[in-house]
Amino acid sequence: MALELRPNCECCDRDLPPDSLDAMMCSFECTYCRDCATTVLKGMCPNCGGELVRRPVRRAAKLVNNPASTKRVLKAEGCAPVKAA
Ligand SMILES: [Zn+2]
Ligand SMILES: [Zn+2]
Repeated sequence: MALELRPNCECCDRDLPPDSLDAMMCSFECTYCRDCATTVLKGMCPNCGGELVRRPVRRAAKLVNNPASTKRVLKAEGCAPVKAA
């Protein structure tokens, strides 16, 4: 199974194309932009509590047979900022 490569940030709905270097994700493929992941979420997924790491880029040639997801996942209420510990 290939990664889902979701097309947007779950917090702010910013577009995150498969070649984006600013896409961050957790082990469950919850996907966020770098801004939300670092400043709002402090590196922790609000859904599962897992760490957020940069999503690997999938090369264009590989997208032909393994296309990125087009299903946008978005939190209706947005993401609450995580208080610094
Ligand atoms: Zn975002
Ligand atoms: Zn998660």
